[in-house]
Amino acid sequence: MSRKTINLTRELYDYILDVSLREHDALQAIRAATAAHPQAKMQISPEQGQFMAFLIRLMGARRVLEIGTFTGYSALAMALALPQDGLLVACDISKEFTDIARLHWDSTRVSHKIELRLGPALQTMDQLLEDGQDASFDACFIDADKEGYDAYYERALKLIRPGGAIMIDNVLRGGDAANAATSSTATQAIQALNLKLRTDARVHLSLVPIGDGLTLALKI
Ligand code: SAM
Ligand code: CA
Repeated sequence: MSRKTINLTRELYDYILDVSLREHDALQAIRAATAAHPQAKMQISPEQGQFMAFLIRLMGARRVLEIGTFTGYSALAMALALPQDGLLVACDISKEFTDIARLHWDSTRVSHKIELRLGPALQTMDQLLEDGQDASFDACFIDADKEGYDAYYERALKLIRPGGAIMIDNVLRGGDAANAATSSTATQAIQALNLKLRTDARVHLSLVPIGDGLTLALKI
């Protein structure tokens, strides 16, 4: 019927949510609590959270690393999909944002699966590597400062096992990724990473046009 991905009108997007979204009460609560936040747009979309949780289940993941947690939506979406003894290491620099996350996680039955690491994510990832945790994670979600993405990707490749997945958010930058003349340093960083991934023989690759664009890189 079509050789390209369908264009989502508001009506069609609402329809997708109507017929497929299954959002846990605690996720709904985080969404509601974050809606009035000045940076609410940083939160992933609910269908993306559901998609990532689906991938976590599909992989049978037990250990997940998150780079960029904000008020805790994506972390909780993935933690809910982990087994009881699963672990999600959530990295962020903001105590203010993650205090909100903690409050909501604590009201769930999965808070024991989430370990928050406050501090620059690169330092946390290097520490994990120093601690001998290379190849110990099944998946890594990258969603922090865009200029740091390439360094996060390189660390993530070391931290996940062969067959593990890296999920990279905002790879379309609201469409700006296709703008060769963009003046945004964040978009330029994403463009450079997108180009690098195009021929990166260390991974299998798929760019999924969900949310603001989610690249899936499966470590070979
Ligand atoms: N994944 C989150 C969600 O679904 O709600 C959204 C994450 S938000 C786009 C980006 C987060 O990255 C912010 O909470 C910010 O504090 C964090 N951040 C920015 N720079 C960072 C750094 N160098 N190290 C760790 N976290 C950082
Ligand atoms: Ca994002």
